[in-house]
This record gives sequence, C-alpha cells and structure tokens, in this order.
Amino acid sequence: MDTQGKLDILSSDAQYDLSCSCGTNDPLEQRKRSADGSRWLYPVTTASGGAGIMLKTLMGNRCAGDCRYCPLRSSADFRPVALSSEEIVRFFLDLTTRRKLIGLFLSSAVLGTPDKTMQLLIDAARQLRVRHRYRGYIHLKIIPGCSLNAIDEAIKYASALSLNIEVPSARHYEQLSAYQSWERDIAFGLNYLTQRTAKGTAGERCTTSTQFIVGASDEEDREILGAVNHLYQNLGLDRSFFSAYQRGLGDSSIPGEKASQSVIQPDLFDISHSSGPLVREHRLYQAEWLLRVYGFSLEELCFSEDGNLSLLTDPKLTWARANTGLFPLSVNRASEQELLRVPGIGPVWAKRIIALRRQGRIGSLHNLRLPANSLPYLIR
Ligand code: SF4
Repeated sequence: MDTQGKLDILSSDAQYDLSCSCGTNDPLEQRKRSADGSRWLYPVTTASGGAGIMLKTLMGNRCAGDCRYCPLRSSADFRPVALSSEEIVRFFLDLTTRRKLIGLFLSSAVLGTPDKTMQLLIDAARQLRVRHRYRGYIHLKIIPGCSLNAIDEAIKYASALSLNIEVPSARHYEQLSAYQSWERDIAFGLNYLTQRTAKGTAGERCTTSTQFIVGASDEEDREILGAVNHLYQNLGLDRSFFSAYQRGLGDSSIPGEKASQSVIQPDLFDISHSSGPLVREHRLYQAEWLLRVYGFSLEELCFSEDGNLSLLTDPKLTWARANTGLFPLSVNRASEQELLRVPGIGPVWAKRIIALRRQGRIGSLHNLRLPANSLPYLIR
C-alpha cells in the first residue's frame, strides 16, 4: 500500500482525536477537513489569526492498549496500518513543495510500547529538523507511560507537545481503562512536561496542551474545569482542548454508552449542532476562555446543581445574570478587566473602547456599534 493509501486509513482513525494547540477553539472548525478530499489535511487558524493547512496523522493504529472508550483499542476490529518515520518525512516534504502547509501534527496508537512509539515520532521530527533543516511547526503527541527521557528528546525537536489527560481524576480513568495508571502514566508525565518547558528552561519555546474526552466517563464540568484551572495555575500548561465522546465507539460498559444524551433544539443556540454532547463541548471551550483569557477565577463560574455548565446559556451570560448588581458599567469609566466581564465584549472590543476614550469622552453607545448583547450591560 502506498503512503497516501495508509494516510487515508490512518486519518479516518485519527478523526476522534481532533484538537490541536495551533488550531482554533471552535469545535466546528476543528471538525473540518480539507475540501479536496485529503482527509489528513486540516484547515487551521494560527495563533496570529491566519489560516493554513496542517498535515495531521497517526503513525500507526494497531494499539497495544485496550482502553474501553477508544475505537483503536486492541479488542476492536479494524485494519492495522503503520507509517515509518522515513515515509512520513518524505511524504510531508514532498507535499510542502506543492502546497503551503503550516506544519505537521503526529500522533499514534501505542505501537508495542510507549517508548518504541515515541522513538518513531521523535525520529520523524529529528529527521525534519536536522537532516532537512525544516523550521516550521511540528506538534508531537506524548504517548502516556513513556520514559522521561523520551519527553526530553521530544522537547528538542517539537514546536508543541501534548499529552492527553482524558479525564479529571484517576477515579474517572478507572471507569474507562485498566491499561494504564492515570496518576503514573498521565498526571506524572504532564507534570514533568510542564516543568521541562517552563519559562527559563531550555524547553520554554515549546508550547504544551492537553485534551479531555468529555462524556465517556461520568465526570462533571466542574471537575473538568477544576482540573484545567489546576493545570494553568499550578503547572503553567498553555492550553486545554475538549473532545465530546461519540457514543457507539466504545465498550458498552462505560458510562458514556449508558448515559442519556439529550437532544437540544438547534434554534435555541448560536451554534448549529443539535446534539447535547457537542453543545457541552462548546460550553467547556467558552468557560475555558473565561479562565484563560478573561481573568475569571474557577469560583466565579456558575454551575448547575448537577455540577455542569448550562447547555442553554453561554457561561459568561450566566455569570452576568447572577451578578446584575455589578451592571450597568460605564464605557467611560470601566477598566479593561471590567469591560471583559460584559457579555459580547472580548479583548478586541475592550481595547478598542479604552483606545477611543483616550481621544475624548464617549458620548453615545449607539455610535460605537457594540455587539447587541452587550448593550443591556453598559451605559455612557
Ligand atoms: S492507549 Fe491510546 S490509542 Fe491505545 S486504546 Fe488507549 S486511548 Fe486508544
């Protein structure tokens, strides 16, 4: 089978692992594929707001693990395929001469052992950096359970590294997998990765991220966002991503296969999905932005009695409705941080308002053309 044929199979297996830290926070965009039918090419939005195409694939799909939520588990029935490091390097370089690619994202099922798999990923990155002097973006997945030495080697060649946390605690992981230990193979590895890429270390240019599989276990949003907050505040992780568990892919024994997943009327939402798990994923992304970009603390986020975010309302709007005493805010006097608390006002609008104030007092809200949902919360 030629490399493209293998990529076609591997990309269809990689479709359940869609997040990447150079990409967008929009779950809809994360599920897009290149329009020309090359399913291993992903349109992404870069951190600077530009658009680009990324080659994303698994190195192999025959996994030694048997995690009950994963379609690649060893007991599942699928066609095993693997790429060699040389093969993916050759294909990627050839493609870059014909298309403008912004980078390579390499992941893998566990091929034999975690360290053996890491060697394949690292080898590909090393060849690109050292032999071919490639200076573009390379994202490598850290395989849970690999040695600390393998993490150090990956840091030398990658622009970005991610290690999927999957769930917020060992208790939830035990519901999904007996293959590895959440504390030893995942939490410890994330801890080490963030230490070795912290500011002031040799690995600081490497960005770090993780991903939660949402709804495979019976975790609450409060637990997920608590773990996210810990990863940001205490470990200095750069980003967290969320992937809604897609029912029917895992073993019937896991909570995500048993839970009722409500169907939400699409016209109630500002996104076009109609299924509960994808709306939940979207709300988690919104709440993660509040923690990472808008300066909210975990304690300020509003959860329902069941420990979850509202599916019906954006978490920032939920917070504003619970804190009506703080509004309306004056566009002429509110600080940038206060403006960021207003529904509909993001960092760009907050900075624009502050800049306009430097030119003189703002006389009319109407002339600012602010987002309509911000107007009930603002005065002159
Ligand atoms: S180790 Fe990873 S790829 Fe393998 S079954 Fe578990 S989650 Fe899936």
